[in-house]
Amino acid sequence: MASWLIKNATVVTMDDDGRVLPKADILIEDTQIAGVWPTAETPREAPEARQIDADGMVAMPGMINAHTHCAMTLLRGYADDMPLMPWLQERIWPFEMKLQEDDVYWGTMLGIAEMIRGGVTCFNDMYHYFEATSRAVLDSGIRASVSGVLLAFLPDAEERLERAIDFAAEWKDKGDGLLVTMLGPHAPYTCPNHLLNRVIEGAQETGVGIHIHVSETAQEMQDSMRDFSQTPVARLNDIGMLDVSPVLAAHCVHLTDADIATLVQKRVGISHNPGSNMKLASGTAPIPRLLEAGATVGLGTDGAASNNNLDLLEEARLAALLHKLDTGDPTVVTARQALAMATREGARALGMDDRVGQLKPGMKADLALLDFRQPHLFPRHDVISHLVYAARAGDVRTVFVNGRPLMIDRQLQGLDEEEIFGQVGNRLKRLVQ
Ligand SMILES: [Zn+2]
Repeated sequence: MASWLIKNATVVTMDDDGRVLPKADILIEDTQIAGVWPTAETPREAPEARQIDADGMVAMPGMINAHTHCAMTLLRGYADDMPLMPWLQERIWPFEMKLQEDDVYWGTMLGIAEMIRGGVTCFNDMYHYFEATSRAVLDSGIRASVSGVLLAFLPDAEERLERAIDFAAEWKDKGDGLLVTMLGPHAPYTCPNHLLNRVIEGAQETGVGIHIHVSETAQEMQDSMRDFSQTPVARLNDIGMLDVSPVLAAHCVHLTDADIATLVQKRVGISHNPGSNMKLASGTAPIPRLLEAGATVGLGTDGAASNNNLDLLEEARLAALLHKLDTGDPTVVTARQALAMATREGARALGMDDRVGQLKPGMKADLALLDFRQPHLFPRHDVISHLVYAARAGDVRTVFVNGRPLMIDRQLQGLDEEEIFGQVGNRLKRLVQ
């Protein structure tokens, strides 16, 4: 059994008491955290454990990217500064029609390398060629929830849905539990009710959750009222989708009071994606009201075409800043709330809070060590404030997932970045003509 002892770190536990231990040790045994103690109280040395001296570093739970399309790294910077529908219809969807399975594999690998470098240890993905995404997850050692995207306008939509259901059943819990599967109907406006009903049935048959975009734009809200006389949230609730667990609803920008009450009552996990919402001018999600009402809100980057990176620390900062500006109230979305969204609340939104999102014994050993011996992180009045308002992805030095180091001292363990750059570069020659 492999074990590691991380010594002398400042540990941001994100546990129920919100404890920050100024100088503490973390013992990892096999895939789990076996102990977290103030350094002076560490009860035993584990002589067989490999040691990491984390003096000057901050340890935090690995972050959870609650909504992304990882392989869209291939489209980073390909189409910017456009409204959502022309952006999708004229640029993104035509590009995606040319994608082949291995393009998705290498685009996902690029995104995984970026996320590991930024302290993200788990991501929730929805995209084409979900088997390729899943292979990249298993080959890299990161944790992920993967769903295939379902769009009614694609040829053979019903057949694709059946394949996605088979995939969800066959691949769930592969890779020592690192891979979780879901069903991914793109959005209420791209999936008619008969397809959504089959998704619900499929989720019940296979015991997996559902990942869907909901109420992203004002147009979506208007069209839903015109076509169904219901908001998208009310429509999904009406057909029984919100009784599936977990349901991860991405965006939730345009909500009525009744929608908020429904999302709370049905314990729907919400992924707030402030960078994407700002870039596509989709609107400002009512996050302070959702938090006040007791909703479960995680944080997502969305795809790299609408962000344009997968840096969850940046997303936490955007979340903390955006809602202060929007409401004129500097007390809303505190640094603690923003960091919780990036960690334990993201885990809760995905139904993974029994495994990840906190640093405490019994949790899976998914964590990041950040180098705080830097001018922009000094002095240390408040470590959590620094993580949200001052730190950046490049400050992450070492990352563990499931007890295995995926990066030590900025060196990726197992992923070959030069190969990833080469593969992606070659594929783009065919994709962009
Ligand atoms: Zn999305």
